[in-house]
Formats: sequence, structure tokens, C-alpha cells
Amino acid sequence: MTRDDFKEWFSYHAARFPGVRTWMAKQESNGTNPNDILDAWEIRLRFTDLRDAKKASDAMFEDAALTPSYYEKHAPTVAMIAQKYAAKPTYIDGQRTALCGDCGDDGYVLCWHPESIKAARKGELKRLTMAVCCHCDTGESRKEGINKRHPETVPHYDPQKWRMIRGPITPEEETEFMEWARTLGMQQAYEEFSQFE
Ligand SMILES: [Zn+2]
Repeated sequence: MTRDDFKEWFSYHAARFPGVRTWMAKQESNGTNPNDILDAWEIRLRFTDLRDAKKASDAMFEDAALTPSYYEKHAPTVAMIAQKYAAKPTYIDGQRTALCGDCGDDGYVLCWHPESIKAARKGELKRLTMAVCCHCDTGESRKEGINKRHPETVPHYDPQKWRMIRGPITPEEETEFMEWARTLGMQQAYEEFSQFE
């Protein structure tokens, strides 16, 4: 996650565990600058995806058994829980391990439909989804299966243009999707999806 992602995650997490802020502020009297703690947490979460980290905070909030007894363990625990939600690694020691992190070697990625993106840009929520060919080799072969002569014209997954749906569509995902669609570049939204008119 980026620095902004980290700030967003921290607010999200502290809304569930307000004691975190109090605990951090108290460390000052123990000779530890709260900003140093935040820096350490940010480093710990650098390779964690924002959405996965928020899901992990939710899991801790819902289940006391997952919540560590000490506040200093919150960030490492979130990182560990988030790993379970993260896309599986595609390579281990340089060897392909079978799974594409985005499609799980299925070749298709489930995304919000362009119709939904268009509606969202007008402030309307339309719950339509669409399977898009993945950017991986399996996805490439799917494209050829769909259009042998012009596989390049088959829509394929690009995180700049499509928003993947990893799990059930929760109210939170809906809100995030609406925000994502709103900030999507005009040109991307209209040129790229003109074929769906
Ligand atoms: Zn894939």
C-alpha cells in the first residue's frame, strides 16, 4: 500500500479500535515518538493491499479471538490476516507455481460491467458484472478461444480500466466502486467502453 493507503487504513482501523490512538499517544511518555510507531506500522504493511488490510481490521473487529492483547501487535496481526485474502503468489523462487494471482488460472476475472461504470459516473448504482479475460497466459488463450482472428479486440483485464470483484458485493464494495468509477478518467470510461454501447 502507498502512504495514502496507509493513512486510509489507519483511520479505518482506529475507528474500530479507538484505543489505538490513545495507546500511541501514551508512548510519548515512555520515550517513543508516536510517529515512529506509525512509520514502523507503515513499513510492516507496505506489501499488504489496502482492501485486504481493511478486511483484516474488520475480521479483528468482529472476532475478539483474532484481536491481539497488545496494541503494538495490531499492524503485524493485520498483515498476517490480510495475507489470507491476498492473491496467491505466481512465482516462488522464480518457479511458476501454477496460480495466477488475479484469475487463479481460470483465465477470467470477474469485474463490474461497463454499464455499471457508466451508471456509477452518473451517480446511479447498477449491479451488473462481467467476466473479462485475464492478462495472464490462460487469459490470452481464452481470448483466442473467443475470437481466433482478432483476439486483441476481446476485452481483457487491466486494473486501470476495470474493477475486479474479489468476493461478494458488499455495501462497502459498492461505495468503493462508485468512488472508483467517479475518479476514472473520462477518456478511459468513454473510449474504452464505447464498444459496449
Ligand atoms: Zn490470470
